[in-house]
Order: sequence, then structure tokens, then C-alpha cells
Amino acid sequence: ADPVLSLRDLRIWYGAERGAVRAVDGVSLDLMPGETVGLVGESGCGKSTLGRGVLGLLPEGAGHAGEVSFKGRNLLDIKQRELRSMRGPELGMIFQEPMTRLNPLMRISDHFEEVLQIHEPKIGKKEARNRSMEALRGMGIPPTRYKQYPHEFSGGMRQRIMIALALVLRPAVVVADEPTTALDVLVEAQILRILADLRRNFDTALLLITHNLGIVAEACDRVAVMYAGRVVEQGPAYDVTTKPSHPYSRELLRSTISLSTTELHSIPGAPPDLVSPPPACRFHPRCPNAMAVCAQQWPPTEATSPGRRSECWLHATDRIPVGLEQPLQRE
Ligand code: SF4
Ligand code: MG
Repeated sequence: ADPVLSLRDLRIWYGAERGAVRAVDGVSLDLMPGETVGLVGESGCGKSTLGRGVLGLLPEGAGHAGEVSFKGRNLLDIKQRELRSMRGPELGMIFQEPMTRLNPLMRISDHFEEVLQIHEPKIGKKEARNRSMEALRGMGIPPTRYKQYPHEFSGGMRQRIMIALALVLRPAVVVADEPTTALDVLVEAQILRILADLRRNFDTALLLITHNLGIVAEACDRVAVMYAGRVVEQGPAYDVTTKPSHPYSRELLRSTISLSTTELHSIPGAPPDLVSPPPACRFHPRCPNAMAVCAQQWPPTEATSPGRRSECWLHATDRIPVGLEQPLQRE
């Protein structure tokens, strides 16, 4: 099968006084129909910007290059007007705070019927109602609550309503940015399970943005690990979350595991400033394995096992120039 969404050397930057903030800096990534790909990394690594870029929701003044190809077209070249009409029926989105997206003065039923009437004007009232109830039922919301207002639901239910609202149009691709971060663990697990069923039923591809590697292990088929605007490792979710290749993925996994044990581990240092990121491998100032070459030359991207790629000198030690193999000296 062909990917439904394909990013090629995607770059996104924001203007800034001291120079551009390079939030996404050369990302290539494919999404297959029905597949869930986790995009994981610390906050500020560019993952939300990437998600917004895919949907054409970048703020005014953001620059971009590369390709976001969807059904044979580059979304970055499409006019805002047309893109707006694609959002909903073709490209769906689920955000973190459902309360800011639901109108408190409108019943749940009105939200659904409005969305359907905008995007499928030929739909009859009865069918709109049936489709909406079905979508809600799919997310575990009883049809008896169809006529209620947003404030009558819990936070977890509101988030499920938002998801149902995104899925009622059956988009080919959905981007979900930290959709369960504000919720407790049980509600989160339930939402992720329902989401997995739904995308299987409708063949929807899901790009799931999260800072939580545990969620990736649970809910994703594949994962892309992002650091400082780059995807440093990508591959099957199970492999990457159990045996990461890239030192940053390993550190991320250690800090995730430490949250559920007594051994606290946080990655030393802070994520870099994206105006002037460290040269060569951007992780070198924080990397426990850094060698002299890492601060001087861009690391190659290597296939470390089938379907898996990692951007690190450790996978290409035979190509490190003589004299640059020794551990990096830090001040
Ligand atoms: Fe660490 Fe070097 Fe690999 Fe970068 S290239 S992650 S600094 S070992
Ligand atoms: Mg974010």
C-alpha cells in the first residue's frame, strides 16, 4: 500500500529577532492508512509545530520548505481556502483542551449537526443524527446525553466528544496533539483503546503527538522520536520502546521508566535553543555516548534493523574520521 501522508525533508521556521527558530528541521516520515504513528519528544522539540504544519495551521509568518504530500498533492502548496475545506472531512485534528473547542452555549447535538451540515450539505437531518449518535456511541457516550451541554460532562467525556466530532466525518488522517495529557490514567487508557478500534474500522491514519513513551508503547504501531527539530530515530513502536537504538531514545525510555519506579532519572541538561542549536549532532551536549566527531560532523542515518532508522555516529563507527573516535571532552 502507499502512504496516505508523506513528509519529505519538511522544514518549518519562525522569524525571531536573533534569527529563525528552526522548529522542524528536515523531517521525513510516512503514515500508512489505518496506522498509528507516535511522534514523541520533550516539550519544545518541534512536535506540535510539525502536527500543525501537516494541517496547514501554522501561525502567520512561519516559513516552510519540503513536502507534505497527501493524496498526491503537496499540502504546503495548497491555498488556505481549499485547505480549510479539507480540514474535517480529509484531515482531522484532536487537541488537548476540549473545553476551548466546544461552544458552551451549544448542545452536543448542535456541534455534530453543524459540522456535518458544513462538510456534507446534502446530508439529511435524520442521517446526520444517526451518524452523530453512532460516533458518540463509539466513544462510549450514551445516546441519551445527545441533547446535553458541554458543562454537563466530565473532562474525560468532553475529550471523547471532541474525538467523536473529529471522526464523524471519517477523515483519512487525524493529528492528535497530546489528546489525553490533561486526563487521569484510567480515562487515558480507555480513550486510547477506543481510538485504536475506531481507526481500525475506518482505516484512519493517526499521528499521535505525545511526550509520553508509555503511551507510544501502548497505542502506536510505529514511532518517530524527535529531538531539536529532527527525527533522530523511527521504527516499530515495540522495538523502539523496548530496545531503543539512539542514545536520546534510550534516555527518554529511562526517564519514562523511572516515573514508575523509585530510581529517578532525568535526562541531564535542557533541550537546546532552536535559534542556534548545537552544531553537528544536536544531542551531543547531553549525550552520555558522545565522541569528538559528534560535535563536528552531522551523524549519518542508518538502518539499525528492518524498518528502523537512527541518526547517530554509534551506528557508523567504521566511518568516523581517524582521531575523532575518542570520548568528547566537555568543559
Ligand atoms: Fe550521541 Fe554522538 Fe550519537 Fe549524537 S551522534 S546521539 S552525540 S553518540
Ligand atoms: Mg506541544
